[in-house]
Amino acid sequence: MPNIDLHCHSTISDGLLTPTLLVEHAAAKGVDVLALTDHDDVAGLEEARRAAIVRRIMLVNGVEISVDWRGQTLHIVGLGIDPTHRELTEGLRSIRDGRTMRARGIAAQLDKFGIHGSFEGASAYAGNKQLIGRTHFARFLVQEGHARDVRSVFKKYLVKGKPGYVPHRWAPLSDAVGWIRGSGGRAVLAHPARYRLSAAALDELMQEFRTLGGEGIEVITASHTPEQALLFADHSRRMGLLASRGSDFHGPGESYFDLGQMPQLPAGCVPVWHDWKQVPS
Ligand code: AMP
Ligand code: MN
Ligand code: MN
Ligand code: MN
Repeated sequence: MPNIDLHCHSTISDGLLTPTLLVEHAAAKGVDVLALTDHDDVAGLEEARRAAIVRRIMLVNGVEISVDWRGQTLHIVGLGIDPTHRELTEGLRSIRDGRTMRARGIAAQLDKFGIHGSFEGASAYAGNKQLIGRTHFARFLVQEGHARDVRSVFKKYLVKGKPGYVPHRWAPLSDAVGWIRGSGGRAVLAHPARYRLSAAALDELMQEFRTLGGEGIEVITASHTPEQALLFADHSRRMGLLASRGSDFHGPGESYFDLGQMPQLPAGCVPVWHDWKQVPS
């Protein structure tokens, strides 16, 4: 069975490895099919594609779009997108502009809390100055001794009710799904167990997502326990959504799953790659 990993990050967003090093790492881990899915940017795909040719990996053009749905932040993964498609690239650019404004707001809040220089500090960790996120702030806060590691930062800072939290309006769900589909891609709801939604709201989300043209949900992801993976395998069957598998790898030492090193999809799921012609058998 081919090893397929459809969710990971490079230095173009908040990953630690450049696209080239990421693809080389994937090859070393036995990954056959890899989707690079940086947050709100597709600028790493060309470099990743060159490395993937050398390493004989099938690279899937991907992106992870930040979305606002009923006041919650959701992530929508696009697979098989065209990274040159105008509507998609312009949509992503507007999200990145919003990120820079939010980063200023986060830094202003941390300033008031007595933590200074965080905008510059976070920027220093951002490989892509157009794409600054909370992970970059988290790495700066670890560096300054405010937390033991990135994971612990998200318990004390940068989240609702804690210093450095700035509410933000991301793209509407309909826009994100529209850009992905318009560019020829397949939209997948990322790590669905991570959202704080009641069972009823989650059903409404999956229904709405499907109505908008969304086609899949992540079943295997670092954010899911084994029980949640089975639960979302059931949801995928019940809702007629395809099932995806991705590590959400951000870098060595920072991620729960290494590239490709997670369980296979539970039996009975229809994989999101079921009709992809070039997947090796
Ligand atoms: P942003 O899109 O800038 O709001 O940042 C979201 C990113 O922060 C996610 O993609 C993760 O990389 C990281 N993140 C969020 N929550 C956590 C957490 N509890 N532990 C580790 N990383 C987290
Ligand atoms: Mn991330
Ligand atoms: Mn995500
Ligand atoms: Mn991710």
